[in-house]
Amino acid sequence: MEQIVVNGSESQVVVDDSNLLQKKISAIRVGGPGKLQVIADFDGTLTKYWIDGCRGQGSHNVVQQEDPEFNDKRQKLYEYYHPLEFDPTIPLDEKTKLMEEWWGKTHALLIEGGVTYNGIQNSVAKARIAFRDGVTELLELLEEKGVPVLIFSAGLADIIEEVLKQKVHRSFKNVRVVSNRMVFDENGHLQSFKGKTIHVLNKNEHALDMAAPLHDHCDDVKGLGDEKYALKKRTNVLLLGDHIGDLGMSNGLDYETRISVGFLNDRVEDSLECYRKAFDILYLNDASMHGVLKLATHLCSTESD
Ligand SMILES: [Mg+2]
Repeated sequence: MEQIVVNGSESQVVVDDSNLLQKKISAIRVGGPGKLQVIADFDGTLTKYWIDGCRGQGSHNVVQQEDPEFNDKRQKLYEYYHPLEFDPTIPLDEKTKLMEEWWGKTHALLIEGGVTYNGIQNSVAKARIAFRDGVTELLELLEEKGVPVLIFSAGLADIIEEVLKQKVHRSFKNVRVVSNRMVFDENGHLQSFKGKTIHVLNKNEHALDMAAPLHDHCDDVKGLGDEKYALKKRTNVLLLGDHIGDLGMSNGLDYETRISVGFLNDRVEDSLECYRKAFDILYLNDASMHGVLKLATHLCSTESD
């Protein structure tokens, strides 16, 4: 069954198979919030794609280094590698190597040219980056219901956490950011990056396994100490993404029921057919998060209707 619901004048939601969606909603409600987890992409999913008519910035290109030469060098890398990322003639294994190369060189330039923790704060304060309306309410609801949220990104964890801090003005004990994480020395200078590099082509695999190293700095959070195992037991998933590849974020999990929500931000006509088949619910035209908030409220509610 096909259904298109128009929400107001600007945003549209498309549900390709509403019977299947209803079944999934019922199954997740039966399991309750104790079996649910949310896995979300960051750029273009939690954040707006357009801000005042301009493209919102990604978490990687928000960072401005003091020496502009290094910003230029990173921009040159972007100009070289970004077309390769979307080149259909390059085999996947070769492309994966190229992406590792790109991320490796970019991280090396950040270390070589210098980044400070203060610099990160200033970069975020000046950045053109904003959450979709309703994201704060969604995170608050999920925290209240004890539902963990994994934000999985090929960008920079430190930036994402700073954006949360500056734009939402609070932290959430149920939110974990799995992304490239900076290590600062005692003077607040970037020294290295922690663990495995997460780039566009491997962020689609085993989010939960990559989340494992988080253990060592979240022992203080009650009930999430054995995080990875606790997450593996939460076999119902609400997944949020803006690329077909984001669907792979739940690959490491043997899930029972997954509801996938897609945001198709750009070139809607080109990708509509593909996206509407891939996602259970699809939002068009840079929609707000209010629809997802309503869905999550319903999924977590114990009322019988
Ligand atoms: Mg994205």
